[in-house]
Amino acid sequence: MMKRGFTMIATLITVVIILILMVVLMKGEGLGGDTVDMRKDGLGKTTMGSAILSAKDTVCQTNLGQVRQALEAARMSSTDGPPQSITDAGLPQTDYVCPVGGEPYVYDPASGKVHCPHPGHEKF
Ligand SMILES: [Zn+2]
Repeated sequence: MMKRGFTMIATLITVVIILILMVVLMKGEGLGGDTVDMRKDGLGKTTMGSAILSAKDTVCQTNLGQVRQALEAARMSSTDGPPQSITDAGLPQTDYVCPVGGEPYVYDPASGKVHCPHPGHEKF
């Protein structure tokens, strides 16, 4: 008798394993029922969504660093004191908002500090 490559049972088992892995990834729960760490903003409940938002968190952190450096450069080069608004930094407008929630960054000219108002981004 000639041997075939895959039996019907082997194909079904492969499909079931792939489905189980997809469910685990989409639901955001591990096999033991442990859930993905909840974010402060309540977004990213699935594993994939959480990974995407983690990348956007990093973009927010990087944008804030660039805004701080640009404001510092504007402060150092200006003779009129610190810049009065965040747009004085001369960066593209897309760098002034949080990539996760779209909130504009908050700048305090008195202290020179810039922060993101999005929940969970206070530490950036
Ligand atoms: Zn942010």
